[in-house]
Parts: sequence; C-alpha cells; structure tokens
Amino acid sequence: MATETTCEVLIVGGGLAGLMAARTLLHGGHKVILLDKGRGVGGRLATRRVGNGVADHGAQFFTMRDPEFKTLVDGWVKHDIAYVWSMGWSDGSLADTPRDGHPRYAVSGGMNALAKLLSQGLDCRLDTQVTALRKGNDEWVVETSTGSSYRAHAVLMTAPVPQTLALLRAGSVVLPEDAASALEAITYDPCLCGLFRIDGDVYLPEPGALQRPYAEIAWIADNHRKGISPNARILTLHASPSYSRAHYDDSDEMLVNRFRAELASFMKTDAHILEAEIKRWRYSQPSALYPERCLVIREQNLVFAGDAFGGPRIEGAALSGIAAGHALHTLWD
Ligand SMILES: Cc1cc2nc3c(=O)[nH]c(=O)nc-3n(C[C@H](O)[C@H](O)[C@H](O)COP(=O)(O)OP(=O)(O)OC[C@H]3O[C@@H](n4cnc5c(N)ncnc54)[C@H](O)[C@@H]3O)c2cc1C
Repeated sequence: MATETTCEVLIVGGGLAGLMAARTLLHGGHKVILLDKGRGVGGRLATRRVGNGVADHGAQFFTMRDPEFKTLVDGWVKHDIAYVWSMGWSDGSLADTPRDGHPRYAVSGGMNALAKLLSQGLDCRLDTQVTALRKGNDEWVVETSTGSSYRAHAVLMTAPVPQTLALLRAGSVVLPEDAASALEAITYDPCLCGLFRIDGDVYLPEPGALQRPYAEIAWIADNHRKGISPNARILTLHASPSYSRAHYDDSDEMLVNRFRAELASFMKTDAHILEAEIKRWRYSQPSALYPERCLVIREQNLVFAGDAFGGPRIEGAALSGIAAGHALHTLWD
C-alpha cells in the first residue's frame, strides 16, 4: 500500500556515511528516517554467506588517520567489535609480511556486523529504492519504487554520486551551477570480486592476505584466517581498477576462470575449489573526490556525503557522515 510519511531529515543510503549521519542527528534530537534499497544496511560494508562460510566482499579492512575516527575505533576495539588484523600486507611474496606500524582493522563477524550495530535504534526503511527527489513548496518529496513517498524538511544524499545525480535528474531538481559541476567531477573505480569456497588449504602470507596494487588481481584474502569464517575457507579476490574497468562486462564464467587461474599457484596439492561466485562493484572507491567532508546547499536544505567527500575509504565515509549530520543540524539554527 502506498503511504506518505513526513520527517525532519530524510537520508538516502544506509551505508556507513548515512548511518553515522543518522546517529549524529538523532543525538541532536532530530526525527530522521533512513532509506536503503538493500535488504540490509551497510552498502559497501558487505559480508555474504557462501555455503557454510562467510566472506567480506566489499571493504576488507580499515585504517585510521584522524583523531576523531580514532576515538570511534578505540571504542569498537574496546567492545570487541573491531580488532587489529594486520600491521601491513605482503606484496605477494610468501616471505615475511612487512610491518609499517599502522594497524589494519577487521570487524568481528565481518564488516557488515559494524553497520548492523550502528543501525540499532535508527529508523531504517530497507528494501526501499528511491526513484526520484522532487522539490515541493517548502519541503522535499522523495519517491520510492514501492509507490510510497516521504516528505522532509532536509535531505541527505549518501549513495555514490552518479546514482545520486540520476535521482535528482529524475525529479528535475536544478542545483546551483558550482555544486552541480563539483558533483559531476566525482568519479569512482569499479571492482570485480571473486568469492571462492575452498576445500583444503592455500599458501598465503601472514595474516592470510596479500595486496599487490600493480597486479591484475590486486587482493587475495582468506576469510577463515581473518577470523570471520570459522567453518569454511572462503577466499575473496579483488581485481585492480584497470582490470575491472576493462573486463566489467565479461561473463561470470570468464571471470571465474581468470580468478581461478590466479589462484592455481596458491593452492596446496590437496586443495580444490568447491564453489565460486562473482560480484561486480560499479562504484567501489572514489578516484576523484570533493575536497570537503560534505557539500551543503543551504538554500535548498540539501546535503551530500559519503566516501567521495571524506576520503576514499571507511574512515572517510564515517567522518563525512558525522560532518553531514552536524551540517544538517545547523539548518535549524
Ligand atoms: C570492493 C571494495 C573494496 C573496498 N576495500 C576497502 C578497504 O579495504 N578499506 C576501506 O577503508 N575501504 C574500502 N572500500 C571502500 C568502503 O567500503 C567505502 O568507502 C565505504 O563503505 C563507503 O560508505 P558510504 O556510506 O559512503 O557508501 P555506501 O556504502 O555505498 O552506501 C550507500 C548506500 O546507498 C544505498 N543506495 C544507493 N542508491 C539508492 C537508492 N536509489 N535508494 C535507496 N538506497 C540507495 C546503497 O544501497 C548503499 O547502502 C572498499 C569498497 C569496495 C566496494
């Protein structure tokens, strides 16, 4: 049944940026509704079941640089939500993994568990795809694929920017010229991901992963050794941005064969592949970013956030969401 709901702030996207913004706004006493087209929250904080195992197939780990994010991470570590997985990555050699003094964190149970935890107490409406954003007289009208609509004083857009721009175009929203050209300049790299369930063991350097930025298959990780898949060995493979761009439309079969060929040299003699699947991320990580943590169009009560604003990774998405939450709060001053 089509319904119409009114709230103060509507957030499009329940990835880390949207969740952090919603929490910030809730703390400031605002009525917030968050919409996501997915079956669950998290977006690119994505963890999936493969057979009797579990794999992170989007973000693999996170780092921290900013003191504000460090405070958050310290809390997650204290409560066993996150843990240090590694202090560096091998570039492919099976010899010692270099340690550079910077911790790489993983999330207990997989990356998506963090998103689920952060969504507690929030009004998240899932399976709700936004199809257009329209400007009403004094408010925004957000239309969804279910036919239901939402009216809000202010809107925060956190989907990857090309998707956000499509929603604005669908509702004939005209942005100020400087904001429109800044948003159109944001770009993302794609990422092809292969998930392989393995019977037996593989050769991977400590701590069960390697990172080769200049190879076609840039990342290989064992979710069992990572600690999130106790009952099965599931490997996550990520292709580099250039390989992913060139082969994005290849068939699943072709991609499985390419990943399988790469894996061959890592398999121990008794190991074999039980199951394989491919996941395509059209917008995996931003490659051209906006210079501030969020973009605020005050006269339209419209804010943009996400990793393309705060920095091309988990830390950036979290800080962008917090900044957007504060910026939205000031719209009531
Ligand atoms: C393959 C891969 C590997 C990565 N590796 C790392 C890593 O190792 N370390 C690291 O720090 N970062 C990594 N990242 C990046 C990290 O995952 C992101 O920076 C971060 O999760 C982005 O969060 P976000 O909230 O900005 O966006 P998202 O997580 O993309 O959230 C946007 C949300 O908007 C929703 N949405 C989109 N359109 C609509 C619509 N029309 N209606 C309703 N909802 C909509 C989506 O469902 C999604 O949930 C990786 C990402 C990928 C894909």
